[in-house]
Order: sequence, then C-alpha cells, then structure tokens
Amino acid sequence: MTIDTSTEHALALDAADPLASFRDRFWIPESDGKQQLYLVGNSLGLQPKNVASIVTEELEKWQRLGVRGHFESDRPWLPFHEFLTPMMARIVGAQDTEVVVMNTLTVNLHLMMTTFYRPTKTRHKILIESHAFPSDYQAVESQIKLHGFEPRDSIVTAKHGAETELLSEDAICDLIEQNRDSLALVLLPGVQYYTGQLLDMKRITAVAHRYNVSVGFDLAHAVGNVPLALHGWDVDFAVWCNYKYLNSGPGAVGGCFVHERHATDKSMPRMAGWWGHDKSTRFQMENRFDPIPTAEGWQLSNPPILSLAAILASLQVFDDAGGISPLREKSIRLTGYFEALLNEELGDRVNIITPRTPHQRGCQLSIEIATGDVPGKRIHQQLEAAGTDTDWREPNVIRAAPVPLYNSFEDVHRFVATLKGIVS
Ligand SMILES: *Cc1c(COP(=O)(O)O)cnc(C)c1O
Repeated sequence: MTIDTSTEHALALDAADPLASFRDRFWIPESDGKQQLYLVGNSLGLQPKNVASIVTEELEKWQRLGVRGHFESDRPWLPFHEFLTPMMARIVGAQDTEVVVMNTLTVNLHLMMTTFYRPTKTRHKILIESHAFPSDYQAVESQIKLHGFEPRDSIVTAKHGAETELLSEDAICDLIEQNRDSLALVLLPGVQYYTGQLLDMKRITAVAHRYNVSVGFDLAHAVGNVPLALHGWDVDFAVWCNYKYLNSGPGAVGGCFVHERHATDKSMPRMAGWWGHDKSTRFQMENRFDPIPTAEGWQLSNPPILSLAAILASLQVFDDAGGISPLREKSIRLTGYFEALLNEELGDRVNIITPRTPHQRGCQLSIEIATGDVPGKRIHQQLEAAGTDTDWREPNVIRAAPVPLYNSFEDVHRFVATLKGIVS
C-alpha cells in the first residue's frame, strides 16, 4: 500500500474528520508556550475542559450546604455514583444494573476475586498471561496464598510468543481445555498493556464457560478504547480504571462490572460494607447485611465525590461524541495511518509488535526501534526533549497511542517526522 506522506494530506484528513473539534474540549499540556505532542492517553488521559466547573460546583455545594449536600441540589451526593452509571454502562456494553463506579482497579480486582475465586482441593487454578501487569499478577498470587494454596501449583500462565510477543487465542483456549477440571478462574486483559493486543473476549468466555470456569477481564487498556459488549459476551466480571482512555484524572475512581446473573444473586459470597446494603434500610443502622441486587451490592464505602464529578464530566464528552462507535471508527483510521506512515518513513528501523489487523488492537502501537547501538530508551528521551509525550515500557518498547477524542492526523504526522529525524 502506498501512502501520501505529505503534511497537506494529514491536514486534509483532519479537515474531513467529523470529530476534529473535540480536541478543543481538552487541555493540551504545554511547555515553553508550545503544545506538547501528546500520545500518552493510554497512561493518563487529558483533562476535559468541563471538569473544572463540575468539580468546583461540588466544592461550592460543600461550602454552601455542608452535610445537606448529601440530599440537596440536583446532584445530591448520596446517589451521586448513579448519575455515572448509564453512560458507563453504554461504554462497556452492559445493563445499568451490572455496572458500578467505585474504588480503584486493583481493589476491585480483589473484591471480584473474593467472589469469583472460590478454590476447592481439585479446582484451584487461575489462568493468567505470563506478562500480566504486575499488579494483576500480585493480586492473583496473594489471593491464591490467602486460600492456602501455592502459586506454583495454582497459576497457569498463557505464554507470549517468543518472537511476536503476542498471546495466541488458540493456545489460551487449549490451556483452558487442558486444565478444565482444575481451573477456577480465567483472568485476562481486554487489551494487553505492553503490546496493545486486543483479545477475543467473547470466544475466551465461551470456551471457559463450557467447563464452568469463571472469567474476568482487566479492561484498563480497553475501556474507552474499543467497543465492548460485556453483557452479551456473558463475561462474569470486569474491572477497569478511568484515568487512561476515560480521561477522569490521576487516581480517579475505577469501574466494575458484575454480570446480571450474579449481581441479582444475593447469596454470592463477598466482602460487605454499608454502601452495598439495601438503600431503603441503610440508615436504620442495623448490622444485618442485605445486599443491593445489582453491581452496587459490592460497594463498601461512600465514594469520593470530587473524583466522581470529574468522571461525570468526562463521560459527558464521550456521550457528546456519539459514544464509542464513531470514536472507534476514527481510531481505526488514525492508527492505520500511523502504522502506514511508520512503515513508509522508517521501514525496518522500527518493529511494530502490535497486531497488524485493526480488530486485534485498539489505538496504541507498541514500537521497538532497531538502531544498532542507540538503545530504545535513549530514543524515547530524545522524543521527550523534542516535546513529544509517549511512554517507555521496559524492556524495550515505546508505546504511542493516538486517541481519537483529542489527537489529530497532524499529530501522528508530526510524531513520525520527529522520530525519523531522531533515528536518522
Ligand atoms: C493501569 C493498569 C492498572 C492500574 O491499577 P490501579 O489499581 O488503578 O493502580 C492495573 N492493571 C492494568 C493492566 C493496567 O494497565
């Protein structure tokens, strides 16, 4: 495929982009009065401009109303998390009753494993990928130990290909079949953080369910990036953070999905706290625990409103853009353009480890740079010095993520030109 590498072509693509104006709804970081080239929304999404006013409103409510803020105004704090639910449910393809915004990712992962990892003498294994995000691996290992099992006996790892670094879905399905009598849980990423690989969550869930194995997904790099249909795929649970593609601010409260089949079952074992208790009797202050028959039944505490306010603002931007479908459509074109430009301008000096087919990836490309003596990390530092924000992941990858809400074709063009200048 030949590609027009001119700046004019990039500008023409932007001029034809129906979502181009959304860039103006975000604060683009600057240094020395110049906008950064920001391709690191996979790590921390940019701040939507409507965040400050919504957060300020909540601060003012606290000033004016004090404790009455829990009940007064058109966005009282008591049900505040509920205002996020419909928009969040649309983004992950769930019913409203299956989604709750609470805690942070790793905390939610532990809460979900408390419910869905119920090992027995014969069925005690967890299937996880060999290069799982460290926090996920550590959470899994600690859960296994808490139940009195040994990680070396109870962890089954799906290996990444030696050359491609990618996970093989066939191999994952084979592993599930081979361990069908001893597996208790499959825990995998929706989009793998290092390679950017998108897994077929529907297929993996169907295979695991054939053998009565529960399935959970870590959607840190999938949510707000690729279309999801958690309810229809029959996923048991999922967890995610909201500060990456969902632009909700550093350390933002995360999200959790519990399939309706389980959420309505009050007998599901869980960690309990008063915020998960029936709303109509919560303030009678009795010790009896009667879980809300939705994903909210896993809440423990009353949530941090200032963080929820930022999430509300950010989700409104997603809704205004028409949701994930138009964003994904642009994303496929933007990342396809990125890939083609890299191939054309840098040829075999770069090795893109992310899958080449759009349905196996989100917006991120993970790039290994072959430059002889100069280590990839040095290249990354030079990119930074040139006003370009990407991120470096050990051992050997520059991750660059053009985000359809605020990145342009011109950004991608500038990035490839900058990289070419550094590498040449
Ligand atoms: C970003 C990320 C996390 C972050 O976990 P927190 O609990 O929010 O700090 C976890 N897992 C994966 C795969 C991630 O990419």
